[in-house]
This record gives sequence, structure tokens and C-alpha cells, in this order.
Amino acid sequence: MKNALNVNDCKDMIRFVADKIIESKPYLTEVDSAIGDGDHGIGMAGGMQKAKEKIDAMDPTEDAYRVFDTAGKAMLMSMGGASGVIFGSMYIAGAKNSPPKSELDAADIAKMFQKSLAAIKERGHASVGDKTMVDALEPAAIAMSEHSEEGLLEMLKAAEQAAHDGMESTKDMLAKYGRAKSLMERAIGFQDPGATSVWIIIRSMREFVEN
Ligand code: ADP
Ligand code: MG
Repeated sequence: MKNALNVNDCKDMIRFVADKIIESKPYLTEVDSAIGDGDHGIGMAGGMQKAKEKIDAMDPTEDAYRVFDTAGKAMLMSMGGASGVIFGSMYIAGAKNSPPKSELDAADIAKMFQKSLAAIKERGHASVGDKTMVDALEPAAIAMSEHSEEGLLEMLKAAEQAAHDGMESTKDMLAKYGRAKSLMERAIGFQDPGATSVWIIIRSMREFVEN
């Protein structure tokens, strides 16, 4: 079990997360078909595939943040739809304005998620309760900040639970953004696709650190 992630660990973790999203493509398609246009799984899987390729092709670096920046830019540039910008910025904003570091510990990762959350909320204007990925990301980022002193694995376990609860909570919500908005109360009972992706990403981070 790891308590800090060096450059290679970060690469391996992003690859692991990418593979889990790619594996979940049919599930994400199903979730987005219920209240969206069904493209979320295709977009996320495609973006994650590109992220893996760009990480493999990276120039050697001593800065672990660069790995996230590279992955995020690959997603931003390859994915269409709302989620390209949103999930691309999740990695990019997390790494932004951080002095280079060869190893990231729990507190560094918690800080990354706080920055991602702030950037996504500023850009997309969604708040908790609007039935978006923010409903999973915000509680997860808060859980990370609250549990970062317990180490990487405990922190990620808390964040995974928070993301899962947040994802579940979207079932009861009306959508304020995206395609589900036009469904009004017909969106009730269905979870948000982006929140589902957030949960898969954080769950996979926990699995990576645990194994
Ligand atoms: P599109 O809506 O263009 O088809 P996707 O299906 O890939 O894109 O992604 C939809 C997801 O994007 C939603 O489930 C939601 O979580 C997220 N999303 C949409 N608009 C916003 C927003 N303004 N802020 C945060 N997340 C958003
Ligand atoms: Mg969609």
C-alpha cells in the first residue's frame, strides 16, 4: 500500500483509472441513455484512451503534476460534449499552479480535488443539487480534505463513499443543466452519468492505491 505517489505511480494510476472507465463504457452508455443522449460512455472511454496514449508518449519528467496535466489536456482535446471540458479540466485544474513535486501525498491529492471542484463550478455554474457530476465531486473533495491526515488509502475510501452517496443522491434530483434538464420530473429516479463517472474514477483510485 502506498502513502505517496511518484511520477510513475501517477502514470500507472491514471492508466488504471482509464482502463476502469473504458471497461465501464457499456454501463455509462446505459446510464446516459436513460436521461441523456447516450454518448457519455463513448466520450469518457475515448478521452481516457487518449490520456493513456499521451502519458505513454510523455517526455521524462520529475513533476508528478505534469502527468495529470497531460492526461487532462488529452481528454479536453479529444472528447466532444460537455464532459470533455469538464473531465479534462478536472485533471488540468487539479495540477494547475502547483510548484513541481516528484511525489504526491494525500494532502496534495486532496488539494488537487479542491482545485478541480472550484474550476468546474466556476466554469459550469453547477452546484450540489443540480444533478451533475458536482453532486459526486464536491462531497468527495470535502471528504478528502477531512481525511487527508489519515493517509492515502483511508482518504480515498472516505472519498469513494462520499462520491457514491453523491451519485445516488442525483436520482432524486431534477436536472438544471445538460440534456436531462428538458426531461423535468421524468429525470427523477435516474442517476446522473457524470456523477457516475466521478464515482468510478475515485473508486478506481482507491483500488489502485489498495493493490
Ligand atoms: P453531453 O451532455 O454533451 O451529452 P456527456 O453526456 O458526455 O455530455 O456528459 C453529461 C454530463 O456532464 C452530465 O451527466 C453532467 O454530470 C455533466 N455536466 C453537464 N453540464 C454540467 C455543468 N454545467 N457542470 C458540471 N457538470 C455538468
Ligand atoms: Mg450525453
